[in-house]
Amino acid sequence: MTTVKLHDKTFDTYLSSETIQQKVAELAGILNKEYADRRPLFIAILNGSFMFASDLFKHLTIDAEISFIKLASYRGTKSTGRIITAIGLEDDLFDRDVVILEDIVDTGRTLHEFLPKLHHQQPKSLKIVTLLHKAEATQFPIPIDHVGFSIPDKFVVGYGLDYDGLGRNLKEIYQLAEKDIE
Ligand code: 5GP
Repeated sequence: MTTVKLHDKTFDTYLSSETIQQKVAELAGILNKEYADRRPLFIAILNGSFMFASDLFKHLTIDAEISFIKLASYRGTKSTGRIITAIGLEDDLFDRDVVILEDIVDTGRTLHEFLPKLHHQQPKSLKIVTLLHKAEATQFPIPIDHVGFSIPDKFVVGYGLDYDGLGRNLKEIYQLAEKDIE
């Protein structure tokens, strides 16, 4: 098993580059069929999804557009709770076939809070594709249409995902080593 050290923690290989690439190609194949003749707009959620989105997009053979957005959350008033804003969402989603690309869905909270903002723009359809899904960690159920890998509730890095800024460049996905789980 290969390990990497990022800051103070050790991570063990979990998904090889080949395994990831195969899955990404498989997901793209499904989307090519589902969106044939529909010109979908992909919205990739930064930072983590940049690598997944880039690899997936290369496998698309249909006409498709892509935008990258960043989600920022801040505390609103007591009654509004946490507020999510999308930075860089300039496209008009009205009547569009929209596909959200996520690197990982953990508790589901981020998308749960963000989805109403998208629905507000009345897209023709809205699907969610995530490379990784920690099903056991779900606290906010959201409708995910395609999952690359369903993974255990352990912290992962690599292939766009970071630990405190590091690890995004790794081609593989790594899991936090048992000894470093607090
Ligand atoms: P949520 O709990 O809202 O579904 O997940 C929000 C965000 O937490 C994800 O988009 C991702 O940025 C981060 N996250 C959740 N689990 C992990 C993980 O195992 N590794 C890394 N690097 N980020 C994670």
